Amino acid sequence: MKNQEIAEIFNEIADMLDILGEDSFRIISYRRAARQMEALTEDVEDLVRQGRVGSIPGIGAALGDKIEEYVTAGKVGYHQELRAKFPPGVLDMLRVRGIGPKKVKVLWQELGISDIETLRTAAQTHRLRRVKGFGEKTEEKILRSIELLKEGESVFLLATAHAVADVVLGYLRERAPIHQVAAAGSLRRMKETVRDIDVLATTDKPAAVVEAFTHMPGVREVIAAGERKSVVLFDVEDRFVQIDLRIIEPGSWGAALQYDTGNKDHNIHLRTMAEKRGLKLNEYGIFRDDTKVAGETEESVYSTLGLPWIPPEMREDQGEIELAAKGGLPTLVEDRDMHGEFHVHTNATDGLDPVETMVDTARARGYEYIGISDHSVSSTVAFGLTADAALARRDRFRELNRERKGFTVLLGTECDILDGGEMDYKDEVLKEFDFVIAAVHSRFTLPIREMTARVVAAIRNPYVNILAHPTTRKIGQRDPVQIDLDELYEACASTGTAIEIDAYPDRMDLNGTQARAAKNAGCTISVDTDSHAKGHLAWIRFGVGTARRAWLTREDVLNAWPLEKVRAFLR
Ligand SMILES: [Zn+2]
Ligand SMILES: [Zn+2]
Repeated sequence: MKNQEIAEIFNEIADMLDILGEDSFRIISYRRAARQMEALTEDVEDLVRQGRVGSIPGIGAALGDKIEEYVTAGKVGYHQELRAKFPPGVLDMLRVRGIGPKKVKVLWQELGISDIETLRTAAQTHRLRRVKGFGEKTEEKILRSIELLKEGESVFLLATAHAVADVVLGYLRERAPIHQVAAAGSLRRMKETVRDIDVLATTDKPAAVVEAFTHMPGVREVIAAGERKSVVLFDVEDRFVQIDLRIIEPGSWGAALQYDTGNKDHNIHLRTMAEKRGLKLNEYGIFRDDTKVAGETEESVYSTLGLPWIPPEMREDQGEIELAAKGGLPTLVEDRDMHGEFHVHTNATDGLDPVETMVDTARARGYEYIGISDHSVSSTVAFGLTADAALARRDRFRELNRERKGFTVLLGTECDILDGGEMDYKDEVLKEFDFVIAAVHSRFTLPIREMTARVVAAIRNPYVNILAHPTTRKIGQRDPVQIDLDELYEACASTGTAIEIDAYPDRMDLNGTQARAAKNAGCTISVDTDSHAKGHLAWIRFGVGTARRAWLTREDVLNAWPLEKVRAFLR
């Protein structure tokens, strides 16, 4: 947990130095240090205790001192000194997409705007367009960004919610006298955003469980501490998430888990089915008159209604109940089906770790192969590679494949789709890669016809194998582009191009509904993390969760295939 806090402090120092117009070299070194802290897999507190802070790559003595200061004193003096120079609210404005430190400086020093609300009013009353560098378009963009920010503030990314749930469940398993414990709700259904976290537990000693739950580290406020239901606000990043804990009678465990997992429509549908059979279904069980006939397990609830157990990711009342009743539920793809992935960055472009580290992390996950897809030359913000530089990696990749027996690293590229639909590398370059991912990273505001034509042209390129993050949305930051997804699916299906579920936490693009439509149109789906550091490869679980929400089987998922079959597809 401290790793992330230190990363945030370093980032904030960089932002403040930037707003103050300080030396760019120092700003860059703080930003780099922040990325290192985020990617660090060891607990920084352990490193400080063992005197090994110097072993963190890119952290010199001055930064190392600040890390030690934070771990021992809980704050960094330099950070606090800088903060004192800013009215509260100025730094908040950085959270508005499109507003960087340079713009904050102008807004604050020239217009006296020092918080998001004032910024919104200024944009609405057209005060911004009077300043150099701001126009009518900027005002519109700022207003939409503030709207997105407000929407995003009421939800958490699935990965964030899961990280919290993992900590809370782990804590309760270790510290509280519980028999069973699980998180339910949209988190269990793997929805891409989560509002709050529902935890269920069974125990003989409810008071002790409530005591442990309400005194966990990270609890900011206890809203309720009852033996049936307790509610706390839990610190996450610089916000807090509500966590509800319900203590369940063992005989009602399955019914409660089913009920709290939802979604609402799925539950209403089940209740209606129960009523038709003269039964009553609620969170305590299934009852005939006043006698409980099921409820101890979820399976018992479903089977009493004549259904097999339905995977939580499918429970949206989108036809899954009808399908289950006919015995037609698909065998959904699982984490353990994954043989590798394709969308992975290294420090050759904007990733953090060298290819060797990414390869070894993938091997440790039990993968058979990994595709490395660093950025192409036009992605200047991501340090995109020239064609020569990209292809020059071939020798090292061959060596890696000789060194790591039984594992294959494929040389790929995440190649930009340029404005008119042409690819950033020429065909004679593209054909040298083992695989090619095409992606939009610019001109997000094209009208729908032009954007669709642009992406379809890329899909039709014979060397393009996978279309990355098709809508380019970023949750809480950027709306999806205007694009005809059905046309993309059709183009992908007819050219044998895979379409991606990008599981990077704020992307989740395609989402479950879209990926299901893609499958129905005949597409093969590639499930990738878009990793920029070794720790990111673990996000594959959210991609697989999304694939399950799309009802995908392992036959539908390109990287759930063994290498041989993948090679045939890429050819
Ligand atoms: Zn990308
Ligand atoms: Zn990428």
